[in-house]
Amino acid sequence: MPLFETESLVLKSYNLAEADRIVVFFTRDHGIVRGVAKGARRLKSRFGSSLELFSRVQLEFFQKEERELVNIQQVDLLRSSFDSASSPEFLQTFSYLADLLTAVVPPHDPNEKLYRMLKACIDAADLPDANLAALRFYFELWLLKLGGYLPNWNICDICKRELSEDETADVQADFHLICANCRRSRNRQVLTGSHRQIFAAGQKLGPAEFAEFAKDLTEQVAEISGIFKRIISNVIGREVASEKSFAVNF
Ligand SMILES: [Zn+2]
Repeated sequence: MPLFETESLVLKSYNLAEADRIVVFFTRDHGIVRGVAKGARRLKSRFGSSLELFSRVQLEFFQKEERELVNIQQVDLLRSSFDSASSPEFLQTFSYLADLLTAVVPPHDPNEKLYRMLKACIDAADLPDANLAALRFYFELWLLKLGGYLPNWNICDICKRELSEDETADVQADFHLICANCRRSRNRQVLTGSHRQIFAAGQKLGPAEFAEFAKDLTEQVAEISGIFKRIISNVIGREVASEKSFAVNF
């Protein structure tokens, strides 16, 4: 049985039988990996506090070829998010993002860019007074971008003309934009130049810088995030649960 070692983020964990836990990791080198942590529920577990949600760890696991669940051999804590994770909003936010990630990305499919992005979002969320709504938006945007699902909002989808900085355009059912000249009927949803500036900034800035940039743009960020959720729902073939629906248990 080969032994693998990789840096990872702890995404979710479930109780299994009396003493064990199933833990879902987002690993840098192997994508999403689900494993059994034997004895993790015992008081003096060898895993200690290394399986706390959204911690960054060095993970060692054995994998049998035909099995989806790996055997977790060792987990060493690199960076704890324990203090942040005591905040319900932090837990809700990242449980929601972990759910999106596991819905969109198949297991054992490495994606280092996405890994680094989630890691940077968690680090940004650990800063004092973190703008979690902006970080949720940022993650949704990059999940779509790296998956190739992000529409091009720089142009009108019909005449292919580049939209000017302050131009308002209609959002189509396929999430592309069309300009006022090409519009045949009035659509319910429009994006302004300011919405598109937020969209562009999210693709240019790091998560902490974006959170700072977006701090007075809460409403517009939420409006674009609503469109992202509809795109993600289309991709995964089901409704995206809202971030508020993640119950938090202490
Ligand atoms: Zn047009």
